[in-house]
Amino acid sequence: MLFPKQMVHRVTDISPEDLKAKGIKGLILDIDNTLTTHDNPIPSDGVSAWLDSVRASGIQMLVLSNNHAPRVEPFAKILGLDFIAEGKKPLTGGFKRCAKALGMNRDELCIIGDQIFTDVLGGNLFGCHSILVEPIQPESTAFFKFKRFLEKIILFFYRKRA
Ligand SMILES: [Mg+2]
Repeated sequence: MLFPKQMVHRVTDISPEDLKAKGIKGLILDIDNTLTTHDNPIPSDGVSAWLDSVRASGIQMLVLSNNHAPRVEPFAKILGLDFIAEGKKPLTGGFKRCAKALGMNRDELCIIGDQIFTDVLGGNLFGCHSILVEPIQPESTAFFKFKRFLEKIILFFYRKRA
């Protein structure tokens, strides 16, 4: 339940052809530490070009963030994507709204995010594909450091299994 289906370094490492080969037609995208660093209004290097290539392949995308609308809306606008803010991942409500908005089944969707306890767990509870990316930048708060510590333990077993 806590294992991602797939792991990559950055979103830009994910090829649209690969996604299509897996039957994926829609992407649910996290923002913070996935498409850019926390609270950064500018997408990370290569992200805009990557989104264009995904778009060109016919795969649809939506932003699902646990962050507030004032953070999510302007960023989603830059990317030209619809969004759901305060998504409450890992609860599955936001995922269901994404599926409905895109008109797709759960097995046609893939969540891409940097956190096991929100993005991956939510995707697994919902029943879609999941790709975990490495966080772009380490967080500084104690709570986040603790979460990352727990993630490291989970990823140790994930790598052993893989
Ligand atoms: Mg994130």
